[in-house]
Amino acid sequence: MTLEKNQEYEITIEDMGNEGEGIGHIDGMAVFVKDAVVGDTARIKIIKAKKNYAYGRLLEIVIPSEYRVEPICHHARRCGGCSIMQVEYQKQLAWKQDKVMNCLKRIGGITNVEELMEPIIGMKLRAEFPAIRYRNKAQFPVRRDKDGNVAIGFYAGRTHSVIDTDVCYLQDEVNDDIIKRFRKFLVDYNVEPYNEENNTGLVRHILTRVGRKTGEVMICVIINGKELTGVIQGDSPNSKSKYVNVEQELVECMEDIPGITSISVNVNLEKTNRILGDTCRTIWGKDSITDYIGNVKYQINPLSFYQVNPEQTEKLYGKALEYAELNGDETVWDLYCGIGTISLFLAQKAKKVMGVEIVPEAIEDARKNAEMNGFDNVEFFVGKAEVVLPEQYEKHGVYADVIVVDPPRKGCDEVAISTMVKIQPKRIVYVSCDPATLARDVKMLVAAGYEVKKVCAVDQFGHSGHIEVVTCLQRVDM
Ligand code: SAH
Repeated sequence: MTLEKNQEYEITIEDMGNEGEGIGHIDGMAVFVKDAVVGDTARIKIIKAKKNYAYGRLLEIVIPSEYRVEPICHHARRCGGCSIMQVEYQKQLAWKQDKVMNCLKRIGGITNVEELMEPIIGMKLRAEFPAIRYRNKAQFPVRRDKDGNVAIGFYAGRTHSVIDTDVCYLQDEVNDDIIKRFRKFLVDYNVEPYNEENNTGLVRHILTRVGRKTGEVMICVIINGKELTGVIQGDSPNSKSKYVNVEQELVECMEDIPGITSISVNVNLEKTNRILGDTCRTIWGKDSITDYIGNVKYQINPLSFYQVNPEQTEKLYGKALEYAELNGDETVWDLYCGIGTISLFLAQKAKKVMGVEIVPEAIEDARKNAEMNGFDNVEFFVGKAEVVLPEQYEKHGVYADVIVVDPPRKGCDEVAISTMVKIQPKRIVYVSCDPATLARDVKMLVAAGYEVKKVCAVDQFGHSGHIEVVTCLQRVDM
């Protein structure tokens, strides 16, 4: 039988899907229900029916699950940001731990994975609600809503319509103040929000960054124009309205925010989903802010990549460092090194670290950060890991005691894996943001003579379906 669109059913949610959505069954057919929590009995309506599965919309919770909580944010269901805020945090963690375990077992073929997995490292619990206020970077879109009011906030799930909000609970508290001031600034000075449909209007996004350890705050306004201007209407109905520069007025609105260090304007004139354009102009204070992960200092400008949850990143990299078991004599490769965050972490304990990254600007930052922290035992290469590593191995016979990898979601390239195996490091530490590709790559490494020693998941993104994992692999014939 197939389920029909628009039919209503009462179902019990038995499981959580890949993104954290609820899964129940009707006559043996799996039904995916966003916003439903495992353990709920719910009334749902079928919104899409396929041959072997269907999607349902949650209409009413008949009996709530013991894992269901009231999200602290009343936009949680509509907002595209938090997908599982209605699931109790400890349950989120248990689900993430299971997700990693299942991937390693089913895709990776690691049969004893239960013995190898350490307890998942969760985020700090806060009195008001667990795992909130953890992000150090916010990018709020600025638009007009259908009634013509200024809306600053978040995209509703799978759309570009902006939900106007005063508070995002994932962000640092300073943003609550910034959003309020910014909305008032736009209204007071008649600054036009961006219109995505026809690429008109001015203010596209407001981006903020906060140095968690330093308290330094950065504000960057992304505009569809060269300068930030407001409109002054003419005195009479026939006189033309005038555009005036209001950058100084923005500074006046923001300069007494605690910690404010940098205010800039970024120009993005393209009709594109990319948030930032290529050029930034500082209008007040410094060009960048600084922050620390562990003892390592980083300089962050609006365009640079930086981990968004520095507290959990420190724990994640701490695990990677622990798994690397360095005593100061090792040569280490850090593949997919970004701005060198892990490389510099490792450099504190290794003889030499070599980092590889495909984005040239990231490597520039990595070199700057190495210099700022006084590391002279690191070297960075621009290029693809699967090109640079074989080149260095074949031309210069490079050696590594330990190789650390932190690839994007698609995992490591096969050539990178086969070269790693040829180099035969004692240990490979695999940092992953996708347990499925991790498991696929681990299977190859195991087949090539490595053994999984330990696995630890770290929750970097509470209330979302994402999870980070560190895995320690050791050469078997050691
Ligand atoms: N380790 C860094 C960044 C990890 S994100 C940190 O923790 O901050 C993954 C990085 O891999 C990104 O910076 C991306 O630009 C880079 N990357 C993607 N494909 C690559 C490839 N084939 N070779 C090298 N780097 C790559």
